[in-house]
Amino acid sequence: MSAETLPFKAELKQLLHLIIHSLYSHKDVFLRELISNASDAIDRVRFQGLTNVELLEGDSAWKIKLIPNEKAGTLTISDNGIGMSRETIVEHLGTIARSGTREFLDALKNADAKERPELIGQFGVGFYASFMVADKVTVVSRMPGKPEDGVKWESTGAGEFSVEPFVKPTRGTDVILHLRGDCKEFLDPNRLLRLVKKYSDFVEHPIVMDVDNAGQRIEDTLNARKAIWLRDKNEITADEYEAFYKHLSHDMQGPLKTIHYKAEGQIEFKALLYVPAKRPFDLMWGDSAKGLHLYIQRVFILDDCEALLPRYLRFIRGVVDSPDLPLNVSREILQQSAPLEKIKTSLTNKVLSALDELKRNDFEKYVGFYHELGVFLKDGAYQDYANREKLADLLLFESTRTDAGKFTTFADYLDRMPGAQTDIYYLAGDTREVLEQSPLLERFKASAWEVLLLTDPADELVLESLRQYRGKPLRPVDKAGLDDADLEGKKKALQPLLDYIKATVSEIADARLTNRLKESAVCLVTPQETMSASMERLMQRLQRDRPTPASKRILEINPDHPLVQAMASWLDANKSDPRLERCVRLLYDQAVVLEGSKIKDPLAFAQRLNAMMLLEAEVRGQKSEVSSPTSDL
Ligand code: ADP
Ligand code: MG
Repeated sequence: MSAETLPFKAELKQLLHLIIHSLYSHKDVFLRELISNASDAIDRVRFQGLTNVELLEGDSAWKIKLIPNEKAGTLTISDNGIGMSRETIVEHLGTIARSGTREFLDALKNADAKERPELIGQFGVGFYASFMVADKVTVVSRMPGKPEDGVKWESTGAGEFSVEPFVKPTRGTDVILHLRGDCKEFLDPNRLLRLVKKYSDFVEHPIVMDVDNAGQRIEDTLNARKAIWLRDKNEITADEYEAFYKHLSHDMQGPLKTIHYKAEGQIEFKALLYVPAKRPFDLMWGDSAKGLHLYIQRVFILDDCEALLPRYLRFIRGVVDSPDLPLNVSREILQQSAPLEKIKTSLTNKVLSALDELKRNDFEKYVGFYHELGVFLKDGAYQDYANREKLADLLLFESTRTDAGKFTTFADYLDRMPGAQTDIYYLAGDTREVLEQSPLLERFKASAWEVLLLTDPADELVLESLRQYRGKPLRPVDKAGLDDADLEGKKKALQPLLDYIKATVSEIADARLTNRLKESAVCLVTPQETMSASMERLMQRLQRDRPTPASKRILEINPDHPLVQAMASWLDANKSDPRLERCVRLLYDQAVVLEGSKIKDPLAFAQRLNAMMLLEAEVRGQKSEVSSPTSDL
């Protein structure tokens, strides 16, 4: 095949433009990204070589070589990894934009200048960082095979790239950066050494460079290559832990919590796990997050081992190393192996108990974590049946007993529960303010029973699926039938009014008496087994084009309220009293507003309200005539 010029994918063009024009103040990250790619490529050929030794072509002295060339003004990063074919180079370096590229562009626009360079590595677009320092990039590469199967890729980053056949004697990839005039500092061996120490010291393969030593050129290894997770806890400093975390995660900030332990017994392994302080960028939008890094006796196997933790814990970063896993199998078989399953159980328990410990020992810090990553725990509580008790213990809620913005837990709720109370109550809605004013809480306020106030729709889903906590049923207070004891006596007297209301308000499924109200005359509740009002609003928002049919609610009525009694007597005296319908409709609309939903016919509502106000004005007018202070004169 001959030379060919191809355009970059549109999103990549935009990306390159941004990288070149807005990120150059942190241009030194380019080296870390290219070294990381070289290291990945070596891991890949080493792993495949385990089952197909021919791929190695007799060369398994893994190394990444930095070659600054003063005369040519180029810096070359060379590896003996898996290499690329013409097809894969076109695919990986130019045409296929990752699904996350769009998100990356958005994140880039929204991020602080300080955070931007970190985004590059986190989103898997690291190669393009080359153009921060180079006005032309040449890549020559070859997969295991014949020298003439090599390929040469070249671009100035402007919008297109060229590919052509290339004869490359050795397997692997050379990335040749034609450094820009203002980037010649990257030809300086000392500068390169410092950068490797800073960003790539934990890279497992030797990063080498030719240096002068007593008049001789020798190859020097620049990185320390320490497998920190294998060392004894007591020998590792906090700085080392943090540096390794940053190396793994591309996070600028240190981790929130470090979990380092050794498991012995049925299966042996070492794990070094980190809880990030902030939600990783790659988890902000899509789902591009990778799993843990898996090693088998120091040999890197996978950097995205999803089989080591349940999906909802995918924000955890870290390394697992076990001698008890099969080395010579494909990644699919490995991911399904029984020992891996055991490790997963252990890691999950460890992470969940570390979070619980954090919650107990440093609640403020835990709350900070929960704001960033609590959504994943909710996901877990919803899905992970085996661990639901532990996950339920990690959930936080506002309640009628917490200040706004402060949290409580199920366990604390139980501690406060009076002896007579058997259930855990909750109410879901859009905001705390709306919830606090809900008539549904009146009785709870009077009895000082606590109600959890849920403003995240996910909470409602989670509580519905949990159903109980330590044997105590979780009860939404907006479901019908919560409080209908001792109503039989009143029912008879008010039955005609209930029938009238049901006939007048076609929106409701039923009208019935309740004990739950103190000050209010009526409230709306959901029939058992149907969606709550807040869930319904959420569904309507999510499916604009396919409207969720509003389910019919039940209007519950306070038999002791003066208005209710007045209506009953109006009805008794004259079925067609005009005040009756007006009052019933107004009460219903009021209940709709109080549950946080919208009134269907606001104009009719306003007209009825005006009619009432007029009536009141007349009554007041008469009264003031009678009792006017001037009449004494
Ligand atoms: P990421 O490393 O996150 O995949 P990059 O933009 O850094 O994203 O690299 C894109 C892809 O190009 C890599 O996934 C890999 O397939 C390929 N690639 C880059 N550098 C090399 C290399 N030195 N050897 C082999 N393949 C490489
Ligand atoms: Mg990369």
